[in-house]
Amino acid sequence: MKVLIAGGGIGGLTTALFLHKAGIEVEIFERAENIRELGVGINMLPHAVSELAGLDLLPDLDAQGIRTHELIYANRFGQVVWRELRGIEAGHDYPQISIHRGKLLGLIYKAVVERLGKEAVHTACRVTGFAQSGGGVTVEICGHDGALSTVSGDVLVGADGLHSAVRSQLYPEEGSPIWSGIMLWRGCTLWPAWGDGQTMAIAGGNVAKFVFYPIATASGRDHTRLTNWAVMAKTGDSGTLPPRVEDWSRPGVLTEVLPFVRDRFHLDFVDPAAIIAATGGFYEYPNCDREPLPRWSFGRVTLLGDAAHPMYPVGSNGASQAILDARSFSDRLSSAASIEEALADYDAERRPKTSEIVLANRRGGPEGVIDMVEARAPEGFENLDDIASFDEREAVVRGYASLAGFAKTRRGHDQCGRP
Ligand SMILES: Cc1cc2nc3c(=O)[nH]c(=O)nc-3n(C[C@H](O)[C@H](O)[C@H](O)COP(=O)(O)OP(=O)(O)OC[C@H]3O[C@@H](n4cnc5c(N)ncnc54)[C@H](O)[C@@H]3O)c2cc1C
Repeated sequence: MKVLIAGGGIGGLTTALFLHKAGIEVEIFERAENIRELGVGINMLPHAVSELAGLDLLPDLDAQGIRTHELIYANRFGQVVWRELRGIEAGHDYPQISIHRGKLLGLIYKAVVERLGKEAVHTACRVTGFAQSGGGVTVEICGHDGALSTVSGDVLVGADGLHSAVRSQLYPEEGSPIWSGIMLWRGCTLWPAWGDGQTMAIAGGNVAKFVFYPIATASGRDHTRLTNWAVMAKTGDSGTLPPRVEDWSRPGVLTEVLPFVRDRFHLDFVDPAAIIAATGGFYEYPNCDREPLPRWSFGRVTLLGDAAHPMYPVGSNGASQAILDARSFSDRLSSAASIEEALADYDAERRPKTSEIVLANRRGGPEGVIDMVEARAPEGFENLDDIASFDEREAVVRGYASLAGFAKTRRGHDQCGRP
């Protein structure tokens, strides 16, 4: 059996590793001229790290990333609204890992080259369409010179991201992604370590949020971390078109982001305006998603990762859910009685779960806990419990964790002072 994968991102390349491990032949077709280490920070939740550990990638993840020890939610004055341990400290078998997205892609790609051979990945090959019959699937490829060719296999996986060509052939009427009206600016730079150098913070509220977490150690500099920051702010109306087309690599403009943080945030661990100004180049991305689909798998063709379930980048689920898809797809394909049955089973297993996360992210994800507190106490609070009870705050955060499949009943070390 030969599987053709459209897209050499985290989802497509991880799928290739799982299929190879299961003894299934794979070819990957990536639009870009090279597999480049693009992006800034990304988080992987313990269940996704567990899958990558099963591919023997944990040592590489540890070498490139940071094991996130704690997550703190705060208002824009830095008052803690919720704090919880993460990863192993929270009772999981595997850590949560914060890492540079490019480094994550790079280490997965290196494993693909070592295990499948460089020739399994065809770069500068944009998938433009497909046709399937009872006996196989034929994929049309556009090369860098514009020449069209075809390749045949038994299965096609559309892991070609937000603007998936495979999805648009399956759903030709769907149109553009849906913008929430929120712009996300993100960047990373070397910065003094905060606390234990393994803590992630999300501060702010309904107008703007500021995200801050370390993604790598700096060689020879114990008290410095490559630190990821992000600002999320409402700049348009939900459902309208973003000012510029969605593109993860679009450079951000300093004068557009600074007004959302200057004089608004008063945090004791970082001055958001200072770290943004100190970052050489950074990116903007309009938070967008698509409606959950009624079906991913059609005969021998299916969708995976952002092509299947693009979601707002809150709650650390973008890469994590793509990795869980990859494992599920490979398991089903290597065990079902037929290809069609395997793809239908994968669809039945992963689509409902990820659809729920897409919708939960629209409601604000776990970060909704700071929105709730800010709405009730916009100028800060003296006694948090008077604003929102512990149980109320826990319901927001834990409800999301359980939906995303990484909830733990253990409460961690302390939640704003309580055991
Ligand atoms: C350049 C880039 C930078 C990113 N940076 C960040 C970040 O900093 N933080 C973060 O949280 N998330 C980032 N993301 C998104 C994140 O990687 C995904 O949400 C998540 O990893 C799911 O991965 P995926 O493989 O499904 O999709 P993607 O990571 O989007 O990968 C899809 C791949 O398919 C390729 N492709 C697209 N169309 C075609 C086609 N027609 N034929 C063949 N190949 C095609 C793309 O070039 C890409 O390599 C970034 C994505 C990209 C593409």
